[in-house]
Amino acid sequence: MKVIKFGGSSLASGTQVQKAINIIVADPARRIVVVSAPGKRRKGDIKVTDLLLQLAAAVQAGSDTSAIRDEILARYRDIADYFSMGGSDIIAKLRAHLEALEARQYPSTEHLYAAFMAQGENMNARLIARVMSHLGYRARFVDPKDLGMVVDGAPRSANLLEGSYATIAHYRLEEGEIIIVPGFFAYDKDGNYATFARGGSDITGSILARGFDVDLYENFTDVSAIYAVNPEIVDHPRAINTLTYREMRELSYAGFSVFNDEAIIPVITAGIRVNVKNTNDPDAPGTMIAPTKDVRHHHLITGVAASNGFTALYLHRYLLNKEVGLTLKILQVLYKYKVSYEHMPSGIDDLTIIFDKSQLNATQMSALTDDIREAINPDKMEWFDDFAIIMVVGEGLYARENLIAQVLDQLAKIGIAPTMINQGASQISTMIGVDSKRADEAVRVIYQLSSCEKLPQAALS
Ligand code: ASP
Repeated sequence: MKVIKFGGSSLASGTQVQKAINIIVADPARRIVVVSAPGKRRKGDIKVTDLLLQLAAAVQAGSDTSAIRDEILARYRDIADYFSMGGSDIIAKLRAHLEALEARQYPSTEHLYAAFMAQGENMNARLIARVMSHLGYRARFVDPKDLGMVVDGAPRSANLLEGSYATIAHYRLEEGEIIIVPGFFAYDKDGNYATFARGGSDITGSILARGFDVDLYENFTDVSAIYAVNPEIVDHPRAINTLTYREMRELSYAGFSVFNDEAIIPVITAGIRVNVKNTNDPDAPGTMIAPTKDVRHHHLITGVAASNGFTALYLHRYLLNKEVGLTLKILQVLYKYKVSYEHMPSGIDDLTIIFDKSQLNATQMSALTDDIREAINPDKMEWFDDFAIIMVVGEGLYARENLIAQVLDQLAKIGIAPTMINQGASQISTMIGVDSKRADEAVRVIYQLSSCEKLPQAALS
């Protein structure tokens, strides 16, 4: 049995939904289907989830919701019309469902937002199950609640409770039927809607893959493979045929957006392979994400990416290394303001704390600055805002002793001096901090290195 998940662009219109259905029914093992909300039909289009965000804001503000609700329903009506289902009651049902949600009371604003954002997937799964039945297939909508998916944590960044996996494992599919499950959300123990982080339908697919212990998790999107570098930075980059779970995790962290970075964890636990494939080119082999033992590497560097989403706080004080409890004092300040940090490389007299920009606002930054100054009294303290991190990722990285030298050499050739190098915590990645204005150039020269180097077979075994 396989779990097959379709992303938003794969289900954005009637034509796309038809392609997805053709793919589902082409293989009888494809029994568990996870769907996203309709995504962008073209450049500049709006995802249904983002329209729902607007609807939630209007409900919260108590303003008129009819125009935005109509715009959302029009996206589903277009799909229903494509399958000549205009005469059915499905759109009227979806309308009544949204109106009922608008009339409800929620424990908090976050719960209200989660409830609306979940509807992109919820309504799409209901519609697609109806479309498939209408076309004569044995397909059935299944709610995450019926599968026993229970979550806790923040309503818009929920975590699955571990016990849910056992409940999912007990769920029985009927002979020959296909179940259509909405991605991205589940319910907390009180029955409130809660969503995973954005892009979280990948997480649902991964959870079901582990829960049902399937043979393969197929993740259909709109690219034919995961590429070694962003195709917007390098023309026709090399496609990655196979990569390991941990390489995928490091690369998604660095900004490879094809597969959600949290989604890999349930499949790692269960050792299930993930095949990323293209709905518009289903015969292309795509990229296989697999356990380390199953991956034979042929390139020294598997992927290279730059992420601009960081800001760094640099601290200098003589004898920093000698002070007992210094890091503790810094961490206490971060804890006080509920801020997490990404990395903290340090030296004898210097320390840099690197933050995810999206986690910090201006008020927190100035409060952190004041409190840290007070706590450790540095000689110098400075924020670097234009800071990009280049991530060089590859299981082969530690098999070649002079790799870092080669990477730095490439950067030196174009006059880029790294502001930070972090290597060691993970054997398979190296992080290099550079001026964000030169990040793309840095990625390009490092990628050149990846495409010309081949690992000797001896280093692989
Ligand atoms: N529809 C959700 C989002 O836009 C989840 C997903 O597409 O995976 O984030």
